[in-house]
Amino acid sequence: MTKLTFLGTGTSQGVPIIGCQCAVCKSADPKDKRLRAAALVEHDGLTILIDAGPDFRAQMLAADVRHLDAILLTHAHKDHTGGLDDVRSFNYIDKKAVEIYCEAPVLKSLRNDYAYAFEEHKYPGSPEWRVHLIDDRPFRVASSAQSGELEWVHDKGYFYRLPDGSLVPPDNAVTEAPHDAPNVIPIRGFHGQMPILGFRIGHIAYLTDFSSIPDSEFPKLRDLEHLTLNTVSYKPHHSHFSLEEALALAERIGARHTWLTHLSHTFPPYAQFCRELPPQVQPAWDGLTIHD
Ligand SMILES: [Zn+2]
Ligand SMILES: [Zn+2]
Ligand SMILES: [Zn+2]
Repeated sequence: MTKLTFLGTGTSQGVPIIGCQCAVCKSADPKDKRLRAAALVEHDGLTILIDAGPDFRAQMLAADVRHLDAILLTHAHKDHTGGLDDVRSFNYIDKKAVEIYCEAPVLKSLRNDYAYAFEEHKYPGSPEWRVHLIDDRPFRVASSAQSGELEWVHDKGYFYRLPDGSLVPPDNAVTEAPHDAPNVIPIRGFHGQMPILGFRIGHIAYLTDFSSIPDSEFPKLRDLEHLTLNTVSYKPHHSHFSLEEALALAERIGARHTWLTHLSHTFPPYAQFCRELPPQVQPAWDGLTIHD
């Protein structure tokens, strides 16, 4: 069984937007409070986070997440990667690097945005990541239950202890994700001009920040129990599906249920928005759990 919990369903600024006085931003309905888009997937004993934006810490606390096997990144925008410094908490709990799966251009952005995390001599307590490069081929996320690899040395940071007892700093290794026995199917899409990935795990597919999807990807989206699609407005948008485009795509893919995410305050409050949508398409909300 695959279970997905929406940890955030808001657009890049979240909802409410700082300073905004509109009916959605001022709504008292908890379903109108939207953190930045992210999802937690539980599948075959694995706990997988899709995207780690600026609300990562609040989302981990809200969902009471105590262990992560992997973080999959859809693309490099800050509303999807801005919380990666806070994985330090999992370094501390699990005593190991956090496994991150992303495409090469995303890694390039991370090296730029988080240069301090890739330095050879890091300041003590910098986040420890292990990056697994992916592309549009199915890949395997493995359990990272084995913990205790890293040893914290007071005032110096994390180290690996070798069999002879000596300590070496973590190596920031970048490896290619394995493709044998795959359990994640990436879905290629475009976010404006930017190539981006969505993910299918079991019978659930999660696509966010898409504005187009090549025909070649549709066979990967057959026989879905749940599909998640992004939309930010009724009007056409240069890098996101409009509502009309999302609804047309939902119909073409034909999942049993389609959930809308990355929502902005330009849509009406939750209860009213639900009434405008066909029965098989609904706005997601923070904390919603679905399974296949
Ligand atoms: Zn986004
Ligand atoms: Zn507003
Ligand atoms: Zn984006």
